[in-house]
Amino acid sequence: MAKPNKIMQMPRNGLPRRFTLIASAMLLLATFFIVCIFYWLYDSSKQNILGTWRNEMQQVTQKISHYLKMPIDAVTFSGVTVNKMMEEGKSYEEVGKYLVGQTAIYASIISENYTGIYGFYKGVYLDGSGWTPPADYKPKERPWYVAAVQGKGAVVLVKPFLNLQTNTMMTSVSQLLHDGESVVSMDIFLDSVQHMVEEMATGSIVQLACVVDQDGSIVAHSDATLVGKKLDDIGSTLQKELLQRLKADGNRHFEMYNIKGKYTVFIEQINENWSSVYVLNEDGLYKSLVVIYFASGFFLFFVMGISFLVVVHMSHKYAEAEHLNREIQAVANIYVGMIRINLKDDTITCIQSNPDLDALLEGHFNDFSKRATAMAEKISADQSRDLLKQFMNPETLEERLRDTRYITQEFMDDKERWIRLRFIVINRMADGSLHHVLMAFESIDEDRKRQEVLRKLSETDLMTGIRNRGSGERLVRRAMAERRCGMFCLLDADKFKSINDIYGHAVGDKVIIAIADCMKKTFRDSDIIFRLGGDEFSAFSEGVKDKTIAQRIIKRLFDNIDQITIPELQDRKITLSVGVTFYPATHADSFEAMYQRADSGTYESKKEAGNKATIIMQESQS
Ligand code: GH3
Ligand code: MG
Repeated sequence: MAKPNKIMQMPRNGLPRRFTLIASAMLLLATFFIVCIFYWLYDSSKQNILGTWRNEMQQVTQKISHYLKMPIDAVTFSGVTVNKMMEEGKSYEEVGKYLVGQTAIYASIISENYTGIYGFYKGVYLDGSGWTPPADYKPKERPWYVAAVQGKGAVVLVKPFLNLQTNTMMTSVSQLLHDGESVVSMDIFLDSVQHMVEEMATGSIVQLACVVDQDGSIVAHSDATLVGKKLDDIGSTLQKELLQRLKADGNRHFEMYNIKGKYTVFIEQINENWSSVYVLNEDGLYKSLVVIYFASGFFLFFVMGISFLVVVHMSHKYAEAEHLNREIQAVANIYVGMIRINLKDDTITCIQSNPDLDALLEGHFNDFSKRATAMAEKISADQSRDLLKQFMNPETLEERLRDTRYITQEFMDDKERWIRLRFIVINRMADGSLHHVLMAFESIDEDRKRQEVLRKLSETDLMTGIRNRGSGERLVRRAMAERRCGMFCLLDADKFKSINDIYGHAVGDKVIIAIADCMKKTFRDSDIIFRLGGDEFSAFSEGVKDKTIAQRIIKRLFDNIDQITIPELQDRKITLSVGVTFYPATHADSFEAMYQRADSGTYESKKEAGNKATIIMQESQS
């Protein structure tokens, strides 16, 4: 399988520290905006509250104004009529009668807060309600008359006065008639105005409410004891300042401070002479608003704080997950291909792909169970095919993964490269059956080659290139175990020590290598030839069962040995002593016994000079 060219899992570009910084910056920005929005909301709520109060106050003012308008209308109407009667030359009796009639009408349509119509006509005091003035009563000195004269024909509101009998404030409406002497007038009780003002001032928000005339005389006041007094006589700095403001024809809505707090003042004009004044205590006015905004602000910041902590916590978790992801990814890089198999819905997801895997899947991501065998066939070399088909068999997968987390199989792929395939359990269902399984391909071709080299090295005699003792002996023992009969020989160079001594060790090495080469030439590739050590060698020729063939082989060996030419040796010949025996067809033999026989053959051969071989048969054979 080729190296992976695509990695299809989990984003890898997370920067948690930057993420936290961005989150903090956004939180600060959000805080700034929330504070702005809160301030704006608070301000508009304040304006709303003020607007509501102002409305209420305007309504009260209108009610007072309406209350005063009725007697003004009555006096105006009566004035018009009496003027007309005057033009017609009517007597005071007739006018008196008219006033009585009018009073009766007004008494039925307007409330008892007004007296009847009275007046002064042609030098006589007339009273619509039938009141007879005392003998010393001088109408022309009464305030209602004086004010009418000052009004010069306009309907005027007389300065309020305290009625000592009823201890209530009163006022009169008067008008001077066309003759410049006669007057019609009507009295108004101001208790209702006082009630309206008191009603307005119930609760903690309205600190003070009053109706004053242009001189600052109090017509009605939320503190009833102050009615009839003048604002500047009271001694309260608040009321004095109010008077100043009233006189100054400026802003009719303003704020005032004193040591007790902050006040909002509204002044509304009732008519030309009178104004109503309302002083609102700001603490009371906005207390609930401040509480609501503080509570919701606190709650919001609390929620934001918690959210921030959650974000920080999450970003830590994210960072941890990111690290884990990288580590897992690093481990996953071992694999050249990975697919996730959902065994429940029989689907495949490619997690780490490569061109070979893409070609294998051919764009199909379902029916794994049906296609597994075909896939195994497609990716395996001939010698690995059955093995891989068995390993990829989906029917037995559950069973094979029952008590383990993964299973492994090495195989050679269709391009003759070694692959290690693993099925790794990802998760199971509640009943323990497999749900998701990872199928991971690992390339082990290089490892295999390296192992092969190492194995070869460990089995080879480095000087001669033929097998070493351990490996040769193991193969001979295996052949015997598999009951493969053959010839076994031991070879020993004669007088080798003297070669070393006379020509040097290097020449001795050349002789050893030359003998090994002769053995390679003499024996077949399938024969086992190996160096026992020093100048001793061994060979096992499978299938060689009789002496004749053996002798022929040994002769060939000696011929080859004869032909060894090592210049340093000049004329000196290399000769071998050989012991030959057989692993018999009866198989009644052991390696040790066979070796022993060959060794005694060598020993025998040593007794004669030159190349010599001695065949030693098993006693039962000889
Ligand atoms: P014999 O005819 O009885 O076999 O006498 P020999 O001199 O050949 O004696 P033997 O076979 O016992 O001696 C083998 C000698 O081979 C002993 C050792 O010094 C020498 N030898 C062993 N390994 C090597 C080697 O790798 N290179 C060389 N040059 N000499 C070796
Ligand atoms: Mg020797």
